[in-house]
Amino acid sequence: MSTGPVIPMVGELILESPRRGKPPRHLADLDQAGRRGALVEAGLPAYRADQISRHFFSHYSSDPTTWTDIPAAEREKLAAALTPQLLTPVKELQCDGGTTRKTLWRLFDGSLVESVLMRYPDRVTMCISSQAGCGMNCPFCATGQGGLTRNLSAAEILSQVVAGSADLAAGLVPGGPGRVSNVVFMGMGEPLANFNTLVHVLKTLTTPQPHGMGIGARGITVSTVGLVPRMKELAQLGLPVRLALSLHAPDDELRDTLVPVNTRWKVSEVLKAAWEYAEVTRRRVSIEYALIKDINDQAWRADLLGDRLRGKLVHVNLIPLNPTPGSKWTASRPEDEREFVRRLEAKGVTVTVRETRGREIDGACGQLAAAE
Ligand code: SAH
Repeated sequence: MSTGPVIPMVGELILESPRRGKPPRHLADLDQAGRRGALVEAGLPAYRADQISRHFFSHYSSDPTTWTDIPAAEREKLAAALTPQLLTPVKELQCDGGTTRKTLWRLFDGSLVESVLMRYPDRVTMCISSQAGCGMNCPFCATGQGGLTRNLSAAEILSQVVAGSADLAAGLVPGGPGRVSNVVFMGMGEPLANFNTLVHVLKTLTTPQPHGMGIGARGITVSTVGLVPRMKELAQLGLPVRLALSLHAPDDELRDTLVPVNTRWKVSEVLKAAWEYAEVTRRRVSIEYALIKDINDQAWRADLLGDRLRGKLVHVNLIPLNPTPGSKWTASRPEDEREFVRRLEAKGVTVTVRETRGREIDGACGQLAAAE
């Protein structure tokens, strides 16, 4: 169930592997000056960078045969320099009448990652991966079981959004042609563990077309296990993206096991960083809480959670656990879920139970890649 090569640790014997190395450089890894520079380096005219950016970010095309505003003789060279193909679809699964589509992608080194497009009446959300695998080791998460393979490059992350945008623009998703309005970093990986790349991706997502994707920062959610120093840095970026904190337990004893990074940054510290984030960005923080039967769904834990959150700029997102194959854990009983909601509301905390789309297509984080 490995999703690809594991990066050798320092001091470990480095075996010959065709999978080693970095993904090919792509215009989405660079800013506009860097894109021009890359063309000059390749002996190509710098001004073409703007045209290629437009093809990629406005028309979602990295296929040079469609670049009719560029002389045919130049197209292949430009594509080789700026738009190498980074994602190869391996499998696509659909449900909800085609409005939920999950894609399994193979990367240049054989790593597998997933993205999900979800169309709702009023918005289209892309759920994307920031790493191949994940190093955070949460025992209920399918991705956590396989360990970390590597960080994705900015272009590998952005290309997931571009691929969804291309399908929407082409009218391939039921509901007519459309645009991606929301991006959530809730696929594989811990986005704050790939921080510098994440920052470049957030800037590129929010830069207007044609130099970026023109998606509003308010429609973007970065979800984290709670890497406190990175949460503080993210707050200082000046981009009002939403922060989602995967809490899953209100007490250290249980959170140490459900979200192992809690042994480093305790519930009180991670919540303090979340309130700082809300204060600096003036954005409501989401608390993610997967309800696991008889593990974290007791009435007293709902009360404790409510006490820790009351009065803050916060919203709780309860997610019925989507059990990973072979898991000893399962989703909470409906009556326990209702009681959990009731107790949070009694403390004045706003709460929703997440609509779980895509269960029948291994919608939970990492399940499709794990099965492959
Ligand atoms: N590493 C980041 C983002 C990826 S996971 C994070 O942990 O926040 C996105 C969300 O899905 C997290 O809240 C995670 O805890 C949750 N999740 C993972 N596996 C799940 C499962 N089997 N059932 C329900 N939620 C799950």
